[in-house]
Amino acid sequence: MARERVAEGVKKGYTSSQGLIAQGRGECFDYLIAEKTTASAKEAIKAASAMLLLSKRPALSVNGNVAALVPEEMVALAEELCIPLEVNLFHRSEERVKKIADLLRAAGAKKVLGERPDATVPGLDHARALATRGGIYDADVVLIPLEDGDRCEALVAMGKKVIAIDLNPLSRTAKKATVCIVDNIVRAVPCLTEQIRLLSSLPRSDLQKIVEEYDHKKILQQAVQEIQDNLSRQFQEDLE
Ligand code: ATP
Repeated sequence: MARERVAEGVKKGYTSSQGLIAQGRGECFDYLIAEKTTASAKEAIKAASAMLLLSKRPALSVNGNVAALVPEEMVALAEELCIPLEVNLFHRSEERVKKIADLLRAAGAKKVLGERPDATVPGLDHARALATRGGIYDADVVLIPLEDGDRCEALVAMGKKVIAIDLNPLSRTAKKATVCIVDNIVRAVPCLTEQIRLLSSLPRSDLQKIVEEYDHKKILQQAVQEIQDNLSRQFQEDLE
């Protein structure tokens, strides 16, 4: 179903053809984690939720794959945090930005940024650097589902806390992010919204403790270990 949604996105022109390749790579890694939200991903979701709740200016980035797979879920997340969504494309075309913004509005988004970018992220070539003031450009915490490594690194270099959602724990995005949720966005985004709802009543000191205790490197290592354990288990079961 997810593959069909991305293919439909390409047909309708809001997902790029490269988005299909990203989907294929994602499916492969999802298979390796048995298509389930792992313990390490749950830890990352908890830290990401606390980080978003503590943030003064959080921002949520949406690209063509995200729009194809979880438009309503991204709207629900934005609603929970009372912030806009921002269309942010690697292969930017004004037509695609408008199509995605329209799709998000049709899914219920009250405010969508990205159609009139007014700033650039340093260190990237122009089309990839475009961002919006009041959105990603001056955010202190940015959620980037399915982002490429260069942009993740450039946002981190601007001093932002970057939360990635990426099924590949070996990608540059996963390594460079402040927090990486190694899970399928289809499962991760609803979990994130739910966790934010649950943690929203905690005092700031408790949220700060969750963020301070989070160890990005350890969680990525755990994600790789979970893949190894799952592979050994599956292989063993297949032989029996
Ligand atoms: P990097 O530059 O970070 O090394 P890349 O070039 O490998 O990344 P891209 O093709 O830019 O990756 O982005 C696709 C990434 O998104 C892949 O790592 C893939 O595993 C991940 N991905 C694809 N579909 C999903 C999904 N549904 N949920 C989460 N992650 C996904």
